[in-house]
Amino acid sequence: MEENRGECRIVEKLRDIKIYEYKSGLSVEGVKLSSNENPYGPTPKVYEVLKSFINLNIYPKEIPELKQALSEYLDVEEGRIVLGSGSDGIMDCIFKMFVERGDEVVIPIPTYSYYHTLASVYSARVVNVKRREDFGIDVDEVLNAVNERTKVIFVCSPNNPTGNSEDVKDVREIVESVDCLVFIDEAYAEFSDFNLLSLADYENVVICRTFSKAFGLANLRIGYAVMDERLVRYYKAISPPFPVSTVAMLCALACLKDLDYMRECVEKIRMERERIYREVKRRGLNVYPSQANFLFMKSPIRSRDFVFELMKRGVAVRDCSNFPGCDDYSVRVSVGKVEENEKFLKALDDVLDV
Ligand code: PMP
Repeated sequence: MEENRGECRIVEKLRDIKIYEYKSGLSVEGVKLSSNENPYGPTPKVYEVLKSFINLNIYPKEIPELKQALSEYLDVEEGRIVLGSGSDGIMDCIFKMFVERGDEVVIPIPTYSYYHTLASVYSARVVNVKRREDFGIDVDEVLNAVNERTKVIFVCSPNNPTGNSEDVKDVREIVESVDCLVFIDEAYAEFSDFNLLSLADYENVVICRTFSKAFGLANLRIGYAVMDERLVRYYKAISPPFPVSTVAMLCALACLKDLDYMRECVEKIRMERERIYREVKRRGLNVYPSQANFLFMKSPIRSRDFVFELMKRGVAVRDCSNFPGCDDYSVRVSVGKVEENEKFLKALDDVLDV
């Protein structure tokens, strides 16, 4: 793209946006373990909603039952919850609210790369802080990186792509030591033994979650965030007018009414996660403990080549070498159904044999 700037007049007018290459769900006929989706899909009740929905010509309006159900699920007041077009849409709104040209954002790396993309879009200066060896956030280094220009600190827990959850004491220390916003991205919370919801009462904390992962609604684009009621007013003021479709809201509500289904999926995925961890370790690869629905590992050859070799064998996994803070041997593998994971292990054996 950057090389082509000179060839297209309208592209020359674009403001400077750094492009982070992102190849999602490589199109292979086979097993897709590259985007941390729920392989079982949502509760079958969602398909009943989809079959009966008719009002596609009418703009969406919030469904009070959804906020009530979320309030019960999270044990927080309804008035502190906002909905958005996935967590990604919510993050965009948070940037809109807080970040202007020249502001700084602190990002412990490696982590979810969309924070970097948005920082670039909003012309913020990124202060990357390297995580510890075990990928936990280095609290002292984060606090050292904060200054009066810092607007947001990003905490992803469980962290994508490394899979570890943050210690609540560490994150509380950050929250209590700073004046800026601490954005806590808990997209994978349901898969973890720990969560940071107890920090939601701090006025400088936003906790963001999604229906894309444990609930299996990635395609419907619905997420939510918990924040101080005063922030909710600003959030609503700057949000696009209709960020979430009624279909998505009704399906999310169906998911919350069938929590047992979600918990069964999560249990199966967690069991498979531990099995794959052991199997990968047994094959001599460096693989890290995970609290999410994916595993982070180091490939024996460059991850770009490793991912290509697996893809040739019908298994798509994620090369993380382009995540800021990852080296050239970094791979993330989502946990699928048993038979999908078996295909991954078989392909892995094949590649290791070469
Ligand atoms: N946060 C993290 C850490 C993620 O990994 C992802 C998805 N890959 C998202 C947010 C975005 O999720 P959503 O589908 O809710 O936009």
